[in-house]
Amino acid sequence: MSRTVLVTGGNRGIGKAIAERLLKDGDRVAVTYRKEDPRIPGAYAVPCDVTDSQQVDAAFDTVEQELGPVEVLVANAGTTSDNLLLDMTDEQFRHVMDTNVFGVFTAARRAHKTMPAGGSIIVISSAMAPYGGYGQANYAASKGALVSLTRSLMREFAAREIRANAVMPGPIHTDMFYELSEEQRTALVAMVPLGRAGTPEEVAGAVAFLRSSDASFVNGTVLTVDGGALGGIAAP
Ligand code: NDP
Repeated sequence: MSRTVLVTGGNRGIGKAIAERLLKDGDRVAVTYRKEDPRIPGAYAVPCDVTDSQQVDAAFDTVEQELGPVEVLVANAGTTSDNLLLDMTDEQFRHVMDTNVFGVFTAARRAHKTMPAGGSIIVISSAMAPYGGYGQANYAASKGALVSLTRSLMREFAAREIRANAVMPGPIHTDMFYELSEEQRTALVAMVPLGRAGTPEEVAGAVAFLRSSDASFVNGTVLTVDGGALGGIAAP
């Protein structure tokens, strides 16, 4: 059954792959972007900075006017600002929490207002959450918080028959991965039993499953998509 989907940060990387996959599966898909309309064929694009709750609310309003109530929210937008903990500034810590945690909170809060029964919220966490991030304390903490946030959404939204699940990717070939040094990338890939980084499309496949009716009784779970790096043990 075709659904209306909003993917935050759907203009590039994992978010774009999710948008393209769900479009291919027949959904009506909207993506948010900050600077330039990504012009993804078939997708409706709306500007939105997720750190600004008014922009988040406005983006939902616009998408719902165009495509109808958002039935699936993929809270994907995320960022990094790496530094060793002792050198990390207040601004670096707050910026990452603001984008990665507050941005998901505001989107989920707005989604709940109009999401019909049977809706679904899918939050993109990271394998860095349970593992801990060297030089990425802010990022790891934010992605761990998303697991708790997802499970809390799940409990509060279940009364409206809205499911909430998290996806926990390992290293994935996107701009974010290539912002790391070659040494860091090699170390991350060395942790993956399958011996490689994943593709955005492989994360999109997991999201497509959680969005589908095949996952109608899957609620509050954390699905690792990491080539085995965490041994399937995702709970922080
Ligand atoms: P990219 O850096 O390629 O893309 C990040 C996306 O988030 C962009 O669309 C970006 O928009 C958007 N974004 C960042 N800040 C904001 C903001 N304030 N408001 C709105 N949108 C924002 O990263 P990935 O595709 O790799 O990451 C997607 C998600 O997957 C993130 O949550 C990330 O933490 C997570 N993840 C990624 C992994 C990886 O190895 N790549 C591993 C595990 C998790 P813009 O183009 O405007 O900057």
